Amino acid sequence: MNLNSLQFDNAWMRLPEAFYSRVTPTAWRNTRVLDVSPLGAAQLGLDLESDSIDPERLEALMAGRELLPGMTPIAQKYTGHQFGSYNPALGDGRGLLLGEAVTAQGPMDLHLKGAGQTPYSRFGDGRAVLRSSIREYLAGEAMSGLGIPTTTALAVAVNDERVMRERVEPGATLLRLSPSHARFGHFEWLYQRRKVEDMQTLLWHLIHRHRPEFAEADAPFEAFFADVVERTANLIAAWQAYGFVHAVMNTDNMSLLGLTLDYGPYAFMERYKPDWTPNHTDAGGRYAFEQQPGVGLWNLSVLAQSLTPLIDVERLREMLDEYEPTLQRAYAQLMRARLGLTARTDDASPGDSSLVADWLKLLEQHQVDFHNAFRALGRYRGDDDSRRALAEALEIAQDDTSLMAWLESYDQRLGEESRSHEARRCAMEAVNPCYVLRTHLVQDAIEAAAAGDSAPLQRMRERLASPFSRHDSDSGAWFLPPAVSAPPVCLSCSS
Ligand code: AMP
Ligand code: MG
Repeated sequence: MNLNSLQFDNAWMRLPEAFYSRVTPTAWRNTRVLDVSPLGAAQLGLDLESDSIDPERLEALMAGRELLPGMTPIAQKYTGHQFGSYNPALGDGRGLLLGEAVTAQGPMDLHLKGAGQTPYSRFGDGRAVLRSSIREYLAGEAMSGLGIPTTTALAVAVNDERVMRERVEPGATLLRLSPSHARFGHFEWLYQRRKVEDMQTLLWHLIHRHRPEFAEADAPFEAFFADVVERTANLIAAWQAYGFVHAVMNTDNMSLLGLTLDYGPYAFMERYKPDWTPNHTDAGGRYAFEQQPGVGLWNLSVLAQSLTPLIDVERLREMLDEYEPTLQRAYAQLMRARLGLTARTDDASPGDSSLVADWLKLLEQHQVDFHNAFRALGRYRGDDDSRRALAEALEIAQDDTSLMAWLESYDQRLGEESRSHEARRCAMEAVNPCYVLRTHLVQDAIEAAAAGDSAPLQRMRERLASPFSRHDSDSGAWFLPPAVSAPPVCLSCSS
């Protein structure tokens, strides 16, 4: 198997013509592939070890110079609500769906982000910059490493174009992978244009291609919407449990398959601050960390509204009502695991919810690094020495009353567990990453790549893809948040 022998079945092109525009990628000057992802390769059924990706072919593909046999590039049309306002003029403005590969696991879109202008570019230049492309590339690896549903990428490449953003930046392309790029905004577009028949066509397309089990259901469209609700709830629960802030949760960036989609000014939160967003252009904090569960529901309501011509409103309401309890359940389960508590049969376990809430309050009050806190807690054994070590790791005074009170409840709860401290530590280390996508570390990798050294990028990709076991040779810098005095990396929507 190699890149050249991938088979394509470009099903989106069988949808009505208004769903897309045929666009040829723009060819960029002097493209160099910086890194190829083993994870992305595996998703295409390719094995990097056995040399199945011809570097020249991949480079030509990512330069926009050549296509693989069977590819028919298109820009998808969709619309969406951006920061609460409907924008009818959206669509792939700088990315092209090159083709839909046939893999043993099902269809896999190859989408070239940074492929040049399309009919939906509006005032944009159709380009992607190196910074954002590397950030998206690594985000796919990090989320996969954590087990959070996401798009991924086969490779990231830089080119010799100079792209104007807040400053001039190197141009780049990302070969993104996803079973589908279908978005909430696809249905909003059809709803606004009263295209009920096309809406049915799209629903059947998605069901047959991605959720064939619903084809036999009594109400296949309802089953599909219920599935989107459930997956979105589970996705956002995982974001909350791991401190991920998407930062641009517009409805056009919401995947109908429940994947994290369209990485922009995202970040993993470091010092715990629930009202934080990394996006400097979101002054009102609409998409701040603690807003995400509510925004997920708001976005689903927009999708539900779009489906009213086909699904009974009362049923849509009932299905939306499942969102919050699903999210709460998934979140509670993830957080219990992160705190080293084995799940109880009683799903609600109110005691554990307040233990989680109080733990987060403690982290917030002392501005503790969200990720290190869980690793440090794994080493706690209930004795004075480990209590001291924990306080030190959290940078909290040993005699701090809130820490003491919390540990008292934690000790009590651990008393109900049957496993040893050692077994709990191992279990916690399997769910609490020591390698985290920290914005300042990624920035270092970006700067090195821009200067011609992609080794730090490759190393970071490796670490993020398996984030739970520590490599002894790695220095402490890998594991620390930036100093409070360090200038923050500025992230904005314009990328
Ligand atoms: P995003 O905020 O990245 O989800 O983008 C929102 C919309 O703007 C989408 O329709 C994008 O395709 C489009 N877009 C973003 N950046 C560019 C660009 N540089 N050139 C053309 N279109 C863009
Ligand atoms: Mg987008």
